[in-house]
Amino acid sequence: MAKLSLEGMEFYAQHGVYEEETILGGKYTVDVTVEVDIVKAAVTDDIQSAVNYEVIHAIVKSAMQKPTKLIETIVERIGLGLKNHYPHLKEMYIRVVKHHPPLGGIVKQAVIETKADYRKKCGRCSKPMLCYQDRTCWCMDAGVMDQGRLEHLKLNFDNSCLCSDCVRYYAG
Ligand SMILES: [Zn+2]
Ligand SMILES: [Zn+2]
Repeated sequence: MAKLSLEGMEFYAQHGVYEEETILGGKYTVDVTVEVDIVKAAVTDDIQSAVNYEVIHAIVKSAMQKPTKLIETIVERIGLGLKNHYPHLKEMYIRVVKHHPPLGGIVKQAVIETKADYRKKCGRCSKPMLCYQDRTCWCMDAGVMDQGRLEHLKLNFDNSCLCSDCVRYYAG
């Protein structure tokens, strides 16, 4: 397991709601930290299974390039990109800084940060597991079982997610 960070990635982008922002653009700085399993990569020296810094930068860059009104949207895009790329992402932290936002006075920076920890314990057997609380997981309806059974299970296990073994037990 390792924590890897890319800090201070700089971009000029046309995000914002004001005309001057969308025409002139503004400066942004982005920090990203991901925690992943790199045991396999360390043994095989395989860059593909390691966290590739170039990939993280490309994900952030593509999220920054599409003009958007809210910085929140950028953070969401980056998060989605990271989750899609790293299926075993355990933790991630994203911080986007907008330098000198036009707020009618001197403001050095506007900051938005988000932190997510996907490590959970199975509600039935307590085994450590990962749940992304989105449609990639059965608990948010990934078509693993019918809706009625899903609701019933959630009720039974106090809305906590179950590991794949336990899901298979109930789905089968
Ligand atoms: Zn379980
Ligand atoms: Zn889940």
